[in-house]
Amino acid sequence: MDSQIMNVLGDRVLELGAAPDASGTYRNFKLTRDADGVAWLLFDRAGTSANTLSSDVMEEFDTVLAALEAQRPSGLVIRSAKTSGFIAGADVNAFRGATDAREVATQMIRAHAVVDRLEALRVPTVAVIHGFCLGGGLEIALACQLRIAIDNARFGFPEVMLGLHPGLGGTARLTRLVNPMQAMSLMLTGKTIDARRAKAIGLVDAVTQERHVRAAVRDAVFGHLKRAQPGILTSILNAGPLRGLLANRMRSEAEKAAPREHYPAPYALIDLWEQHGGDKTAMLRAEQTSFANLMVTPSAQNLIRVFFLREQMKKSAGAGNSVRHVHVVGAGAMGGDIAAWCAHQGLRVTLADMKPEPLADAIRRASELFRKILRKPVEVRDALDRLIPDMAGEGVRNADLIIEAVPEKLALKQTIYAGLEPRMKPGAILATNTSSIPLQDLRAGLQRPERLLGLHFFNPVSRLQLVEVVDHDGTDPLLYKQALAFVGAIDRLPLAVKSSPGFLVNRALTPYMLEAMVLLDEKIDQATIDAAARTFGMPMGPVELADQVGLDICLAVGDMLRATFGDALPPTPAWLRDKVAKGELGRKTGKGFYVWRDGKAERIASQPTQVQPQQEMIDRLMLPISNVCVAALREGIVADADGVDGAMIFGTGYAPFRGGPLHYARTRGIDEVVSTLRALAQKFGDRFTPDAGWETFK
Ligand code: NAD
Repeated sequence: MDSQIMNVLGDRVLELGAAPDASGTYRNFKLTRDADGVAWLLFDRAGTSANTLSSDVMEEFDTVLAALEAQRPSGLVIRSAKTSGFIAGADVNAFRGATDAREVATQMIRAHAVVDRLEALRVPTVAVIHGFCLGGGLEIALACQLRIAIDNARFGFPEVMLGLHPGLGGTARLTRLVNPMQAMSLMLTGKTIDARRAKAIGLVDAVTQERHVRAAVRDAVFGHLKRAQPGILTSILNAGPLRGLLANRMRSEAEKAAPREHYPAPYALIDLWEQHGGDKTAMLRAEQTSFANLMVTPSAQNLIRVFFLREQMKKSAGAGNSVRHVHVVGAGAMGGDIAAWCAHQGLRVTLADMKPEPLADAIRRASELFRKILRKPVEVRDALDRLIPDMAGEGVRNADLIIEAVPEKLALKQTIYAGLEPRMKPGAILATNTSSIPLQDLRAGLQRPERLLGLHFFNPVSRLQLVEVVDHDGTDPLLYKQALAFVGAIDRLPLAVKSSPGFLVNRALTPYMLEAMVLLDEKIDQATIDAAARTFGMPMGPVELADQVGLDICLAVGDMLRATFGDALPPTPAWLRDKVAKGELGRKTGKGFYVWRDGKAERIASQPTQVQPQQEMIDRLMLPISNVCVAALREGIVADADGVDGAMIFGTGYAPFRGGPLHYARTRGIDEVVSTLRALAQKFGDRFTPDAGWETFK
């Protein structure tokens, strides 16, 4: 039987060896043999579009390996039959809710045995890798003797994002194959690398194109492929006394990104290598226990929760985006960045402003962003081609979606709508990025109010994934659905909210920032206040955040929310108004509470003596966030608690390892949260009064 190219899968043709027998014996694998006597094991997990690993898949893999041991082919090729890639990693569902470390360890021992069996096969084994090769997938590839990457392959160990480290032998095998410093950095950051880089560090032996796969496989099996050999440095770093020194350096690097008490995984990984880097068998064994211990930590379980919150929000976007052309009005801080993001995501974008300067500035920022996040110069050029400055506003006529992002003034926005409406295509959506003007006010005077809705993006657009999609109780449900799908199509996460002051996220964040002002009034050092929030796990303290957002905006949003919610919010101190009047607005003017240079607050200058922040201060800052969240839920502004938690994490960076403000309250105990709020209310005022929503919240 000669080799044949088979299986046209979508727009790609994968070289899969000989045609498999349709009556194959396995559920998730197909096993064939080519003319050279090489066995091709095709991984094709049943019922899914991407390959993932689960215990039943591993069990079947074990059966296949047993068969191969008996058959003794001249070589073994492992590759995926899915166009999406090799193996995307473990099936994360299996990690959910784990509470018994011993049970996890037992499973890992079993899974290790399968991978060890692959490694021990006495024939040349070759992984042929296209597309994503992540986590457990990469660990299987590492247990092969050779790895051939197709040029579109991407490699990585994302476990650390789930509060874990590799658990299928990857920690031991990767650190022995490539320079352990590079290996550890790959596992500690969770970043992915492309095929070229993988070749450069010795992770793969060859990079080739699909059409050369057969030849590359033949070379590999019959010993003609030059293998990537671990350098002498790799063994020195693994074996030598240098390990302790390097481990310490890694720990201090890790400490900057993720403190140990919140994120134990990187430190467990460093310990593992420091203790066992010189002994593969010991490291493999220790990895099983370390992985199992991590799996049951609240940090890992909450990060796994965040993984599923993201999936849920993605799903809530729905499919079937019909927006191809977006017209953005207002090329300022938000409009410019929204336009750039949409162009980056492949949409045609026209960007209008009344002045040429903001347009020019928006294009400049876009090109900086594209150069940073796109890999190839031609992609940068194409994205810039899709972003069209449009002073005359001609784009309105053809746009499927218009996003208004002009300054926060009701009359101005209404005037602009009056000009837009007559020129809009039938069926086009009119969206506003307003943060604080009720949509009920904005729709007054519209000819067709049902096509107005809110698309509330967060700053910076390219980093914060959340978009609040706002319905004003008169929005056309079909257009609303299209707006959700649009948000999904541009790779952002939608949260459906009803129009209400501050929607969800700003309403929940405002007490956090205003309470910080009250603390400042109590003569507490701003660095101490920010440190308290960071101790809780926030990426940035409330004072720094206020500077970042802009003190003028904080003040305006605070005033607007106080107009509705009154004393449920901390008062805004008079000196804050003076500061704003003086033009000390924070980051955008270079000075607010902090001095800002190159977009960064100069924290060091005002670093206080290292005092441990008091729990009371942390509670004063953090519990009102949970309190507002439960109120928004009770009022029906958002539909469910998971959406609230996801929105706060993806819209504000709320401590991910805590699983969200509502989950945090749940974990701490609702009764405890309510009584703490009550005590704070007695001591500091009504703004801490627990919301009635806690009574029914579970
Ligand atoms: P901005 O002042 O940076 O930009 C507004 C732009 O609109 C300016 O370039 C201005 O020239 C232009 N403009 C003014 N009048 C115009 C007109 N008649 N026609 C066309 N363009 C006109 O403001 P921003 O911070 O980008 O805010 C825009 C909107 O986004 C506001 O509704 C704001 O509440 C909302 N928002 C802001 C943030 C934020 O962090 N800045 C976050 C979310 C939402």
